[in-house]
Amino acid sequence: MSSLRALIAALLLPLLLLGGGTPDALAAPHARALTPWRYARRAERRRHRFGKKRDPRVNVAAVNRRLERLAAKHPDLIKLTALTHIDGDPIYRVDISGDKQAKRMLVTAGVHGNETTGVVTAMDLIERAVRDGGLRGRAQLTVIPLINPSGVRLGQRYSRNRKDVNRTFRPGQWMAESKAVAASIAGERYALAIDLHGAAKKGFFLIRGKEDRGMSSRILSAMSTGLLLGGRRFSADQGEYRLDAPGAATSNNPGTLKGFFVEQNADYAYTLEYSRHLGVSQQRRGLMRLLRSAIDNVAAHR
Ligand SMILES: [Zn+2]
Repeated sequence: MSSLRALIAALLLPLLLLGGGTPDALAAPHARALTPWRYARRAERRRHRFGKKRDPRVNVAAVNRRLERLAAKHPDLIKLTALTHIDGDPIYRVDISGDKQAKRMLVTAGVHGNETTGVVTAMDLIERAVRDGGLRGRAQLTVIPLINPSGVRLGQRYSRNRKDVNRTFRPGQWMAESKAVAASIAGERYALAIDLHGAAKKGFFLIRGKEDRGMSSRILSAMSTGLLLGGRRFSADQGEYRLDAPGAATSNNPGTLKGFFVEQNADYAYTLEYSRHLGVSQQRRGLMRLLRSAIDNVAAHR
């Protein structure tokens, strides 16, 4: 009997650890600091084993602990601000001190709780900026890596009260998450503002917030056309998006964060989408490549 129980425990424990249980199964005090990217790797192995296409289940508490630790270790580089709390989870804004002459740039992620590779990549960017003085010389970065903690905890697009946070950046629709983020960035002028997402499309793509005088094609040139939406077989009509060129889309959903960036007069405002058909590591590499291309191109061009 007891050996049967031990066997059942041995079978169930890995499932719990890999995110089948409560999202905080891994936040137990004895667990080693679990960084979201380590978590992403585990989730990817599991996904491949089960043949499922799914974003990594990101541990909200682990992300926040990592940010708190980075801020404590690099007080000269990182300023951490809790914009609000959702069921006890902070929505953190991270300001990374850069060259005073460098342009201000904003990167946001996790507004859709199931598009977690964006969260992992935003964390990657923060880590990279801490290490890379060259990057800090090109941009004064602000990152809000996890806008919808209740959605991330539940592994769903919507918040816990079943709202699409990315439709609430407009009068009459505000909710705690959008209100806090909007209040924080209102009145700040960004040269680049970019919101990270994932879509069930075959390729990466950039959605322009407004006319950008060729900037999106400069940004997208960092990636081979075959990895861009429409790059293999071009069709302008992509359902809710319209493509002008491989990877260069427009859409008109009201109340998005990108729309709010445009209202706030960001010089360049985008949503950047990864393909949810790719593996997590390919999503991360691709997102980072396009993000860095966006930062470098906006830093270099007027
Ligand atoms: Zn999304």
